Amino acid sequence: MSEARTRLRELPSVDRLLTHPRTGVWLARLSREYVTRCCRDALERFRAAIASGELTPEAQIDDDSILAHVERRIESDREPSLRPVINATGTVLHTNLGRAMLAPSAIEAICLVASRPVNLEYDLEKGGRGKRETMIERLLVWLTGAEAATCVNNNAAAVLIAVNTLANDKEVVVSRGELVEIGGAFRIPDILAKSGATLREVGTTNRTHPGDYERAIGPNTGLLLKVHASNYRIVGFSADVPLNDLVDIGRRHNVPVMEDLGSGALVDLSQYGLPKEPLVSQRVACGADVVTFSGDKLLGGPQAGLVVGTRRWLTQIRQNSLHRAVRCDKLTIAALEATLRLYQQSSDVTRQIPTLQLLTRSLTEIERLGANVVTILSRALGPGYRVSMEDATSQIGSGALPTEDIPTKVITVDSDVMSAERIAERFRTARPAILGRINNGRFLLDLRTISNADELVPRWHTTGQAS
Ligand SMILES: *Cc1c(COP(=O)(O)O)cnc(C)c1O
Repeated sequence: MSEARTRLRELPSVDRLLTHPRTGVWLARLSREYVTRCCRDALERFRAAIASGELTPEAQIDDDSILAHVERRIESDREPSLRPVINATGTVLHTNLGRAMLAPSAIEAICLVASRPVNLEYDLEKGGRGKRETMIERLLVWLTGAEAATCVNNNAAAVLIAVNTLANDKEVVVSRGELVEIGGAFRIPDILAKSGATLREVGTTNRTHPGDYERAIGPNTGLLLKVHASNYRIVGFSADVPLNDLVDIGRRHNVPVMEDLGSGALVDLSQYGLPKEPLVSQRVACGADVVTFSGDKLLGGPQAGLVVGTRRWLTQIRQNSLHRAVRCDKLTIAALEATLRLYQQSSDVTRQIPTLQLLTRSLTEIERLGANVVTILSRALGPGYRVSMEDATSQIGSGALPTEDIPTKVITVDSDVMSAERIAERFRTARPAILGRINNGRFLLDLRTISNADELVPRWHTTGQAS
């Protein structure tokens, strides 16, 4: 006990640590307050370790060992929490991994506006206040055929503000088959409630008919809402009311019609051999008053919610005070504009939009890469593992075409002494982390989203070493 007390007394003071030459190097570039706090925390850790007996009496405690502790802390504080990872999960648009990767021109656009003043809301011709979304609107009008458009923070916000504008204090009619939950916190009934609307469910889970909508319409009906059942499909004895029929019903009763498309495509993906996802321009042509979709799903741009539709409703959506609360910042606007320009101008978007490029890669190319991976990875992992390639399917992800699989090749990594979970953990703790998936008790690395064989060779770092 008294021995511990002696050791506690021998610990240096914060001031002594701050005058140590090693600390001087840190103080030359870091705030004094921060370095002081790191020293104090390190001393606190040593004090606690001595008091608890965790530090044996023989353990060396001097200024250097304490400062080594401080140094490790400073190093780890410098690491950003968002780190690149290797996505070999087979889900191309993985919400947990940040969804779409941006096109080079979108990244350039972000860098440009991030570092200097820009005419975000300044009209250089008139010499006065301008609107931040003028060009986004022009491009969306061009690409979708809608009369008007706006962009907000994400599609959840797009639905929120659109419903609030069209149907606050009114009833919104939705088919029971479309009351979806899109991962975690986005549920159609909840978002309608937050929009100030009352949900009026019609039909049944598997079948909804035009008459169901007709009968539900009354003096307080504000909106007929259709929602793309993004992440599931009702098969078998099922029926829904197509958008054009819903538009007819809405016109007859003078009630606006809106569709939440979720992903929504700007180009016909079936021309590239992909399953058909609804085209935004088609939905606009059907006569929907408002259509909403995401910027970072199939579109392949930054996180954003895009709203297109009639001038009448879009003007009101823009004037809604919520618009200020959910507007896009300049970085998003820059990246979105660059991405939309590719759709407007590129002769082949699948070569320039990374998401579309990954989705349309040929199996031959993936297989060639895979042969390379098998060689390199077998050599790197050594004898304890078996590495081979086989057929599998990838997914688009983020709710787009969840029931449609895209053929791919995967690398399987087996071991006699390690479970698939353990192998997955080994790959996950590499730097950068390599994320695969486990299927039927086997660890798989999907090659669709991998561009270079080296990416799949795990590098294990020992912590605390500066590299
Ligand atoms: C993904 C999705 C949303 C949410 O979009 P975010 O951009 O993630 O906010 C809303 N509705 C549908 C139908 C979706 O698929």
